[in-house]
Amino acid sequence: MKLIHIVNLAAAVMIILGCYIFSVKKAKQQTIQKPLGRVLLFSVCGIISYAVALLFPSRMLAYIGYSVYHILTIAMAMALTAFVSEYTGVRTMFSKEFYFIGVLSLADSVMLALNPFLHGVFRVSKTEDIIGHTYYYISRRENLYIFHFTLAYLILAIGIVMLLKKILRSPKIYKLKYLIILLIIVIVMVGHVFYLSMDSTFDYSILLYAAVAAALFYFSIIYVPRGLMEKLLLFTIANMKDGIVCVDIDGKVAHYNKTAREYCSDIDNENAVSDYINQWFNDNPEALDNDELTWKDVRQIDGEMRRFINDYKRIYDSEGKYVGCFFIYHDRTNDYKRIAEEKYRSSHDFLTGLYNKEHFCIEARKLMSENKDVPFIIVCTDVKNFKMINEIFGVKRGDDLLLRIAGAIRSLAEGNGSVCGRLTGDRFALCIKKEHFNEAALLEDSVRLSSFFGEDIFKVQMHFGIYEVTEPELSVSVMCDRANFAIHTIKDSYQSIVAYYNDEMRDSFLSEQKMISEFEAALGSGQFTAYIQPQITAEGRILGGEALVRWIHPVEGLVSPGKFIETFEQTGLICRLDSYMWEIACIQLCKWRQRGLLDNYLSVNISKKDFFLMDVYGTLTSLIEKYCLDPKCLHLEITETAIMNIPEKQQHLISQLRDYGFIVEIDDFGSGYSSLNTLKDLYVDVLKIDMGFLEKTGNTERSMIILRMIIELAKSLDMAVITEGVETGEQAEFLKQCGCDVFQGYFFAKPMKVSDFEARYLIS
Ligand code: C2E
Ligand code: MG
Ligand code: MG
Repeated sequence: MKLIHIVNLAAAVMIILGCYIFSVKKAKQQTIQKPLGRVLLFSVCGIISYAVALLFPSRMLAYIGYSVYHILTIAMAMALTAFVSEYTGVRTMFSKEFYFIGVLSLADSVMLALNPFLHGVFRVSKTEDIIGHTYYYISRRENLYIFHFTLAYLILAIGIVMLLKKILRSPKIYKLKYLIILLIIVIVMVGHVFYLSMDSTFDYSILLYAAVAAALFYFSIIYVPRGLMEKLLLFTIANMKDGIVCVDIDGKVAHYNKTAREYCSDIDNENAVSDYINQWFNDNPEALDNDELTWKDVRQIDGEMRRFINDYKRIYDSEGKYVGCFFIYHDRTNDYKRIAEEKYRSSHDFLTGLYNKEHFCIEARKLMSENKDVPFIIVCTDVKNFKMINEIFGVKRGDDLLLRIAGAIRSLAEGNGSVCGRLTGDRFALCIKKEHFNEAALLEDSVRLSSFFGEDIFKVQMHFGIYEVTEPELSVSVMCDRANFAIHTIKDSYQSIVAYYNDEMRDSFLSEQKMISEFEAALGSGQFTAYIQPQITAEGRILGGEALVRWIHPVEGLVSPGKFIETFEQTGLICRLDSYMWEIACIQLCKWRQRGLLDNYLSVNISKKDFFLMDVYGTLTSLIEKYCLDPKCLHLEITETAIMNIPEKQQHLISQLRDYGFIVEIDDFGSGYSSLNTLKDLYVDVLKIDMGFLEKTGNTERSMIILRMIIELAKSLDMAVITEGVETGEQAEFLKQCGCDVFQGYFFAKPMKVSDFEARYLIS
């Protein structure tokens, strides 16, 4: 009897080992192989330790064998549950509980390991089989055995729950492979309970391990559900986005999917697909002589035009015999739509929907080429300070404004075959036949847009540059540049809204660009120098002079400031030039001081931009300190508009400069709009009146009266008066009578080189 048991156990071991070897060979790459291998190895070891307990007639060895076997049953149950988790893909469940079970298993193993000595789990007794072989069997189970038993079943229960979950979720055709594993686990559990309830000396349920191993191996690695392939293929075809029709050797439709039915939706009967295929073969007799055909088709499906690329293919078996053919209808509508969208995006501006610059140029060129004898006009727009609008009102409101402008441009183009587009940021362009162009419409738009942010809050200022296409062979991009040149000439103006391009504009723009690019090198190589125009008292005494910049250009010779100051102000380069000029003046004053000419001063000009771009006070005072000068020697000429626009944080600047000792003068008094207000609010030392401004009015008599009054006013406000632009002796005489203290003008002297000034006025 004992020997039969041993043989049975050996057979079980062989079966399990066989499964193990095959599983390694067959499922090397599969993730399932490792957990399966563990189940098989634990069960082999468990059976061997059971066999050892049975084989040797030693009480101690029996205790050890049975204890090891029980420890391995727990390991096996754990491995089996881990396998089920991998096999079913149900992973997340019980992950925390597994740690808890691990601790319990450890406790169980310790108890079992101590059992040969303490007999706390089970006891063994000796017995003999019918042919007299003695062996030990488990004769009594103590209370701790219940713990071991419960633990093992609990672990298996987790596996069972996973399997049940998987079975419930799986499609019908897969349910079987999980169900069989579940059944086998349940059979082993029931078998074991059955053994426990019998008074048997041998645990027959162990032999079921072999059945478990074989089943696990077969169903997890070998088994493929019946008809799976066919069903999978049918599901695949049914779920394909493309339409498929399979046709048998007799030309009968054997199978088709939903999309294929939709493809034939214009035929309204049950045999729509068959009818369509028959018709197709009639229309395409060449299909019988061709193994493959591809063609495009447009079909109306659910009221929508859909575009297809279709394939027809004949199929042959392994011996090369014709067995049928199939059709595939690839629905490419979305691809076509995407391509069309991409094309639209690459040619249109995203925000406004107008053409982008590249496409505007293409379309405008097309329009002009199609109307060769018609004169055209290119209009470009610009919003003054658009960046500031974005800053103040936010990008969203900025976009709204752009949309409004786009709308205005579009309506100018509508109905007359014009082309419009958005070039960049706030620049739009319109290519319009001259006969349709109406400047008044531009002005109306500009008025409408000006109150975009409300009447009183912020006035939107539009500028329009116009290029009358006189050279149609130019590229449209260059034509737009020309319209933009025109804008450039009015971009600082609040009065001018429309500017027409002419060639001088381009030249002046180019010369501005040239000056900007040459500035750095010119400053570095000392091309900027000071000319001095003397300032003389009524008695003819020299007091000093105004330092006026001159650019001694290596090619163009002497360039006067009227040609470049504005450009450098626009670009911000002016503050570099001014601080350079102030230093030249200080150096000159320093030289005069060394020669004992302490009474003569120099006036320097301060641009309105300096107050925004540099530390005027810091720069001037450090120059005075550097050259150890009396600040009274340096007169500062600031124009009235510059003074009124000094940034808020520098409001005290004028009084600071005066407190330091500088003489501050209001230059070109009378040129601004708020002259009298300026006098009310500002405390300066000198009022510098430009005769030129008064003369412009044309009414000399009245000018003279105003002049006299201004001089009197200045005197009563405790200010000295300098009149510049004095060109004649009569003017000088009149000014003297009016009480003017100091004169500057061509009548006395033009601005001159420093050496000339020194020779004429300072060397006695
Ligand atoms: P401004 O400061 O009002 O300088 C006086 C301008 O009037 C000078 O022109 C001078 O040559 C001119 N002028 C003097 N007497 C007469 C006269 O009797 N009749 C006429 N028609 N003109 C006369 P300039 O030197 O061409 O300077 C022009 C302007 O350039 C200056 O006006 C000033 O605003 C600016 N400027 C000159 N140098 C500098 C400088 O270093 N920095 C800054 N920021 N601006 C400067
Ligand atoms: Mg001046
Ligand atoms: Mg002046």
